[in-house]
Order: sequence, then C-alpha cells, then structure tokens
Amino acid sequence: MAKGNISVQTEDIFPIIKKFLYSEHEIFLRELVSNAVDASSKLETLARKGEFKDDVGNLDIQVILNPKEKTLTIRDRGIGMSKEEVEKYLNQVAFSSAEEFLKKYKDDARIIGKFGLGFYSAFMVADKVEVLTKSYRKEAPAVRWICEGKPEYELEEAQKEDRGTEVILHIGEDNKEFLEESRIEGLLKKYCRFMPYPIQFGTRKEKQEKDGKEVEVEVPNIINNPKPLWKKKPAELKDQDYLDFYQELYPYSEEPLFWIHLNVDHPFHLTGVLYFPKLKGNIEVQKNKIQLYVNQVFVTDEVSQILPEFLTLLHGVIDSPDIPLNVSRSYLQGDPNVRKIARHITKKVADKLKELFVKDRENFEQKWDDISVFIKYGMISDEYFYEKALDFALFKTTEDKYFTLEELKEQLKEQQTDKHGKLILLYTHEPEAQFQLLENLKPYNYTVLIMKDIIDNHFMQHLEYKDDKISFKRVDADTPDKLIEKDEERESVLSKKEEKTLQDIFDKLAQAHQNLTVQLKALSPEEPPVLITQPEFMRRMSEMQALQGGTSHLMEFMNLVVNTNHPLIGKLLKKRKEGRAEMASYLMKLALLGQQKLKGQELSDFMKQTVDMLSK
Ligand code: ADP
Repeated sequence: MAKGNISVQTEDIFPIIKKFLYSEHEIFLRELVSNAVDASSKLETLARKGEFKDDVGNLDIQVILNPKEKTLTIRDRGIGMSKEEVEKYLNQVAFSSAEEFLKKYKDDARIIGKFGLGFYSAFMVADKVEVLTKSYRKEAPAVRWICEGKPEYELEEAQKEDRGTEVILHIGEDNKEFLEESRIEGLLKKYCRFMPYPIQFGTRKEKQEKDGKEVEVEVPNIINNPKPLWKKKPAELKDQDYLDFYQELYPYSEEPLFWIHLNVDHPFHLTGVLYFPKLKGNIEVQKNKIQLYVNQVFVTDEVSQILPEFLTLLHGVIDSPDIPLNVSRSYLQGDPNVRKIARHITKKVADKLKELFVKDRENFEQKWDDISVFIKYGMISDEYFYEKALDFALFKTTEDKYFTLEELKEQLKEQQTDKHGKLILLYTHEPEAQFQLLENLKPYNYTVLIMKDIIDNHFMQHLEYKDDKISFKRVDADTPDKLIEKDEERESVLSKKEEKTLQDIFDKLAQAHQNLTVQLKALSPEEPPVLITQPEFMRRMSEMQALQGGTSHLMEFMNLVVNTNHPLIGKLLKKRKEGRAEMASYLMKLALLGQQKLKGQELSDFMKQTVDMLSK
C-alpha cells in the first residue's frame, strides 16, 4: 500500500472545510453527483470520437445510502481514473483548486454554496472518504484511495470489475442528518432534478399490470428528469409540453399566460424557458422563482444579481455556463457576460410581447390586466425595456377599450390638449367610486383611462418625466371645465358682496372638516353647484409616500368648489339666514358623498335629514 502526503500550503485545510462552511454543507452531494455526471459525459464523448470502442451501456448514476455502515456512496460508470490520475486529480488538481478557492472565499459561504469546493466538499460531511475507481482503459488496474481528512492519504490497487468510480463517504457524527433517506432524497431533488443522466436512489414500488392483474413491483427510484424541456428544440415542443413543465417546476400553480424559450450559442451560451405568470396582489411574493442552472445542475433560485429586477417576476429556468459564480455578488452585476445575458433576456421578453401584440391584439388586450404590472414595472426600471415597450404598453379606458400611448396622442389631441399645448390624459382609479364625477364629465366627451394598479402613480410620473408634452390628471383633480384648461374664462353672475356672503357660509361649514378649502368658481350653470377636488400633484405625492410606509396628511387636502353660476346657488342667496345655512350644508354633503368622503355618522345623519326634508 502506498502512503502519501497531500502537499498542504494553507495551514490545515481540512478543519477549514469542516468548520467554516457548515451553513452550506449540503452542497457536497451536488458536487459529487456532478463529478459522476462529468465522468459519464466524458466517456460518451470518447465513444463518439471512437477512442472508447466497447459498449457504453447503462450510465445511470447510483446514490446508495447505508445507515448501518454509516456510509453514503455515489457510483458512476464513467471514465474512472487510473492510479496516476488519482494522484494527479484528487491529490493535486482537486486539492489545490479547493485550497485556492478556500483561501479566496472562506468568509463568503454564499459563494461556496453556489460554486462549490468540488470533490473536497466531501470532507464537510465525512470523516473518511474512500474512492474506488477503475479507468475505462482496460490495462489500468482498479485503485482505492482513502483519506481521513488529514493531509495523509492511502492509495492501493484494488478489486473492481466494472469501469467507473465509487465515492464512499463515511459520514461523521456531526452530520448524521445525511444518513436520513428523506434528507438525501430532498437534496437530490433540489440539486440534481434535471441533471443529464438518470440518478437512481434506491427503489420504489410501482403498480403494474401482469397477466391481467395489478401487481406491485419494485422499480429503480429515478429522482431526476434527464431531458428537461429547456434542452429540447422548440420546434419539437407543443404548448402542452410547456404547460406540463410549468407544473413540474411549480406544482399546483395556475397556468402561465405565455412563455419564451431561450436558446443562444453566441456570444454566450444560454438556454432556458421563462414563463409569464398571472401577477396579482402582492408582487413581492411572486418574485425570485426563476431557477438558475449551470449545465442542468441547480445553482440557486436567487437571480436578482443577474437579471434586472422586473424580470425576476417571471418564472422558469435559465441555464448558462457563462455566468461566473465564483465571484462576489457585487462583481457579478458588472460582469460583461452577465450584462449581455441580462440584456439578451430583456430584449427577448420585449420582442415576445411585441409579437403577441402585433399578431393577435385582441388576445393581448384580454391578457393585459394580468401582465400590465410586469410591463409597467419594467418600463419604470429599465430604460431599454421602456423604449421597446412603448409600442405595446396599453391604456384601458372606462369604455373598456385599449390604446397605446401613440394612439391616445393621435386621437385625443384635438379634444384634450390644454392651452399650454399639453395633452391631458384623464384617469380614474376606481370607476365605481368616481361614478358621479365621470357622469359630470360626460358632456365634455373626454376619454378617461383606468389607472388602478398600485404601480400606476409611479408609472404616470415616469411617463410624464419622459415626455413633457403629456400630463395625467385624475378626474377629481379639478372642476370638470378646468381639468383641461382652455382659454375661455367665465364671468361670475354674482356681485362681490354676494360672493363674500357665500364664502362666509361655506367657510363656516368647512371648518368641521380638516383640510377642506372653499373656493368660489364661475363654472358653467350646467356643472354641479358644489363639488370636491383634490389637486393632482399633492394627492399623488401623498399616495406615494403612503405606499412607502410613511403617513401623509396631504392626502386629505381637498377643495370645496362652489359654482357661483349655478341656479341653486342663486336660489340659496335669496333665502333667509337659516335657510341658507341649511341648503349650503346639504349641498356640501352631496359633494362629499359624490367623492365618497362622507362616512359613518355623518352619512347616516344626512340620509335621515334628506328623508325628513323630502317628507315635509
Ligand atoms: P472539478 O470537477 O471542478 O474539476 P473536482 O475537485 O470536483 O473539480 O474534481 C477534480 C478532478 O477529479 C476532476 O476534474 C476529475 O478529473 C476527477 N474526478 C472527480 N470525480 C471523478 C469521478 N467520479 N470520475 C472520474 N474522475 C473524477
């Protein structure tokens, strides 16, 4: 038996492996199964090139748990190693790369989790590691390498019939969890679910038909799908295949709306499939569902450092060997490949949306409500996406019609351009609640948009910032005739004295309400006698503040506009003192009611008073 010493430079690497990295212990299994996959794929390459002439046969990888012996074995039928290769690869290459890696990143377990220590990660969980291996070259005898987590190792010739490698881990006391079947199966499903060779973990019972009877038979328990959808050619796939794969990734989820199959060879390698889910409610919980793979090996489901944030709302898989994982997170975003990949995906997503829009606008419009948040979020946060998305971002009107910004500009320019040359885009956040206001606007023939997503305030702000020729105004931002300011000014039919009287009456009433300012305005006699407005800018700011968790008093800032030209106001002024106050109070409450600002006791009182009055 040969004994040797692994040349140690870092002062005792093994304790470092064991102690410092415990948070990411579990990745040892991914590393070892990946090695088995690599060895199998190398053998296939040799066979293809004619350098290996025998039958390749079954290349299934076995993961064998033996709780009694306290061992976990990973067995492959790949190229195997000769004695010289063990010395070179395990004692030198694997060791020195692990050593180098640790020196660099021993304080950053996250990177180690993603990238891994390779073969030496076995020592995170095992007190002793045995490698029994036989090269595919017939002349090379099998060898056994044993190392007990110290720089010394043993290397001897051994008996092994079949080519390939068996890595036997003698699991240490501190890591007993890795002797539990469910734990190992869970890890295999997490990291190896789509690795390219079948991975068998024990057997399972399956019902089969035999001679017309149903019998239970033991079959190999293959834990992975070696040919995941994203590695197949799009031309060979049907819609149902994509939907099935979505269920495989996210069982019991609602069907996605559509998807993109990624497949790039140059200037970087990227495959994958991204799904558009129906986004609803709290978008935060729907983020970060994309899984990142490197050659079908699961790495992470946290892709926020790689993709622009809005894309993390998509679901699915991306697989690229060109995303460097052995670098720090801050470096990752600046990496030229990562940037190219992110840009490519952004472009693909935009192209797909455009294609859907152009090919079948009706269908796109039907899906709009489900994807609008995603597109708006993208337009706000990504300049490149913004430019592309202008072509297909839609605005829904209260008439249930959908238009792009360009279409709106073209159609509304006559009617809705104000005296400063700005196109005023009117909107409501809630057509039901603002029903009365919308009624008041009907004579003007304006087009009113529905902007009800949480993100809309930011979205409108962003569009206004990009295009100073447009401005959004909620229908209660001003009186109907002033929403879109034109040149014509109306005269008031009241005298200065009458106006003063009116102002005093309403000022007194308004005192009961915080932040309610009375304004007398000479509106058309057709407009309501009294109405509530909320200046656009202040309201929007305060809503944004509230969204970010701050409390805001601006929100309640409202104007009580009294239409001096309304016949009822003239009538009111002709009444005696008490009559005036009573009528003014009704009118004000009517206005508050129209805005749904009248609540609780006040609303109930008003109802009663109105019934009383009507029954007089
Ligand atoms: P990496 O796989 O990144 O090269 P590892 O430390 O995991 O690094 O492995 C070092 C080397 O040991 C591999 O490159 C390979 O040559 C050899 N090796 C490891 N496991 C196996 C195996 N199961 N079969 C054949 N060779 C292996």
